[in-house]
Amino acid sequence: MTILTINSPTAELQALDAAHHIHPFTHASGLKEKGARIITRAEGCWLQDSEGNRILDAMAGLWCVNVGYGRDELAGVAARQMRDLPFYNTFFQTSHVPAINLAARLAELAPGDLNHVFFANSGSEANDTNLRMVRTYWAEKGEPQRDQIIARWNGYHGSSVGSGSLGGMKGIHAQGGMPIPGIHHIDQPYWYLEGGDMTPEEFGLARARLLEEKILELGQDKVAAFIAEPIQGAGGVIVPPSTYWPEIQRIVDKYGILLIADEVICGFGRTGEWFGSQTMDIRPDIMTVAKGLSSGYQPIGASIVSDAVEAVIGGVEFNHGYTYSGHPVACAVALENLRLLDEEGIVARARDHVAPYLKERFESLTDHPLVGEATIVGLMGSIALTPDKASRAQFAGEAGQAGYICRERCFANNLIMRHVNDRMIISPPLVISHEEIDTLIARAWKSLDEAHATLQEQGLMVAVPTV
Ligand SMILES: *Cc1c(COP(=O)(O)O)cnc(C)c1O
Repeated sequence: MTILTINSPTAELQALDAAHHIHPFTHASGLKEKGARIITRAEGCWLQDSEGNRILDAMAGLWCVNVGYGRDELAGVAARQMRDLPFYNTFFQTSHVPAINLAARLAELAPGDLNHVFFANSGSEANDTNLRMVRTYWAEKGEPQRDQIIARWNGYHGSSVGSGSLGGMKGIHAQGGMPIPGIHHIDQPYWYLEGGDMTPEEFGLARARLLEEKILELGQDKVAAFIAEPIQGAGGVIVPPSTYWPEIQRIVDKYGILLIADEVICGFGRTGEWFGSQTMDIRPDIMTVAKGLSSGYQPIGASIVSDAVEAVIGGVEFNHGYTYSGHPVACAVALENLRLLDEEGIVARARDHVAPYLKERFESLTDHPLVGEATIVGLMGSIALTPDKASRAQFAGEAGQAGYICRERCFANNLIMRHVNDRMIISPPLVISHEEIDTLIARAWKSLDEAHATLQEQGLMVAVPTV
């Protein structure tokens, strides 16, 4: 067969893609009809497609390319590591330099006594590890009945059987026999759509107390852990009210259950600090990381575990691991990525210089007639589309229809912004410049205008009352 290249005709690339490639989270026949957009190159915050368009990537790939595209240092480190030691496992009493260095560096960066690292290849895998690790922890402590885990509706923790069960996405649960037993979901702290007449502060407390109610319902000696993202990402960039996390921390402390912070998106500068747990001022026992850990240049994830958890787990043989746990090339690239984030001041600059400007500009989108609210922490933000700003109303039509229309307009205007139902999301590379932020906002505004016109034409600017 002929091997296609980035210079092959788009139609040929699309046809071969449609013939053999099954895409994740995609309606295949719909995509086949339309043809996938073929991305060929990227540099900084910009993608290039097979038609030669330059596209501003306001999603940093999938929330992961924190240092931006095209960093030669990372390519160099990968090539060197492949020559020196392309693979060796860490199962059978062996180790290697990249895994040693990366684990030590993560222990140094992670807050508190999170000093021990178990490697995986993705966020999903790391959360599967966490699921087994917290149950093993309690079993070893002589409380094997403590095996129930509490998570949240509309949380996202991955799409494997374990991590998809921890997540609270009904579309995922509906396929493949999930959630697995022993996992319980409580409602999310999503004030804008679910807060009704409460103030955000009252609502934050009420939603946090659902955790306490669930613990008491299940039995306080039955609950192993609570897992949550400091700020929900895939659920729509949902920033909890200020009262939420302090109350959650109080409850997990009171009942002595383990707190797992899923930092897969929030980690590595996304929220302004190194970790979302620092931004939200929480003290997890385990953190899940992936995505920004390597800025997406290599697949890698990890569970970063406290001294206390490691002390117990370390007392048994933990019958768990992935062939590529601590893959040397992925570890070397991640370590170099962390060096860039730190030594080039990318995280500090994102917090002090990029985030304040992005916040001001992003919040200006609330002046648009289609936008009900803008919410942003660090470099993750979202806007709610609404047919009626005053009442925080949802659209009477199918949820996500307006968001989809808006996303299509963004795509046409060479801006990558994602939609989750009727929220539009950004999570740009941390290296985005002020000028690029201006371009982002201008293209978003234009796309909102066009989406608004389409919604009006199609008679879709119709509200249902909320709550
Ligand atoms: C993306 C994501 C995951 C899953 O990571 P994968 O690498 O896609 O398996 C888990 N948790 C959160 C919060 C995520 O955003």
